[in-house]
Amino acid sequence: MTPHLDVQISGQSRDFKAVESEVFDLDQPASTPRWQQAVSAWQQPSPSSSDFRRDVTTTATPRMLQAVISAGLNDGWSGNGAAKFEEYMAQLAGTEAGVFMISSTMGNQVGIRTRLNRPPNGIICDARSHIMHMETGGLASMSGALHVTVYPRNGLYLTLEDIERHATISTGNDACTCPTRLIHLENPLGGITIPLIEMRRIKEYADHHGMKVHIDGARLWESVAAKHGSLQEFTSVAHSVNLCLSKGLGAPVGSILVGNTDFIRHARWSLLFRGHELARELVDHWLALGGGLVVPQQGNVIWLNLDAAKVDEDE
Ligand SMILES: *Cc1c(COP(=O)(O)O)cnc(C)c1O
Repeated sequence: MTPHLDVQISGQSRDFKAVESEVFDLDQPASTPRWQQAVSAWQQPSPSSSDFRRDVTTTATPRMLQAVISAGLNDGWSGNGAAKFEEYMAQLAGTEAGVFMISSTMGNQVGIRTRLNRPPNGIICDARSHIMHMETGGLASMSGALHVTVYPRNGLYLTLEDIERHATISTGNDACTCPTRLIHLENPLGGITIPLIEMRRIKEYADHHGMKVHIDGARLWESVAAKHGSLQEFTSVAHSVNLCLSKGLGAPVGSILVGNTDFIRHARWSLLFRGHELARELVDHWLALGGGLVVPQQGNVIWLNLDAAKVDEDE
């Protein structure tokens, strides 16, 4: 028996059954349990099966659903949940460690932020990068770094010469310049893969000058599938790599950030730190609106004093 529930949609109270019949295809025989109807929706060709404009429209396949269902339910710290998946992905990528991220945007932002210490920090990247156009300016607000954008001279991909021309090498005694700390390479970008041989040259240059290389490899699987190199070869020419699990792979969400153990430990810490920063921002807004707190905010937990604000909890 379906329990009777009132569902709030745009302030209107509606009967659960009415909402349910919109969500599920009720033309199917009434004997088909609702959950089976939901699962069978995964087996229909999705709109993306005939939409070739972008890989962002990919939806999860039944095999992906199966993987989701059979994934462990533990949290990220132990057992067979996220920790196991991270371990598996790091192994696949040939790196020491990995950390699951909700999205590639998060993977890039955390990956970049983790590399930077006290300012001044300079980042060099292709002017056409995802971080420049699609990540809501997160690079500026989260990293506080100066970004130097470069158009590749060959019209295809950045080369070591492009980077040499625009990078600022720290002399250790620079009062006015902003040394390049990170080389951010999106690979592939616009369907063009930076060849491994070029990546190797850039990585050697970076190592020589104390810079780090981060790859936004949201679509790196495509370069591997196109036989430009193995995943491990690509990860070996960077200090950290972000790999997208949605897009072509069709997971509902997610990304994995891989690198060495120290970097990943620091990245987890950056994640927590950002949570605390966000909490701080929220508290500032709340206080500015005249709100009060039950106890002071110290970490990512906020206790709003709703009584003092005369706000009902349901409100
Ligand atoms: C899609 C994409 C991202 C962001 O991925 P989300 O998971 O949607 O945040 C980052 N970098 C590149 C190159 C992408 O194509």
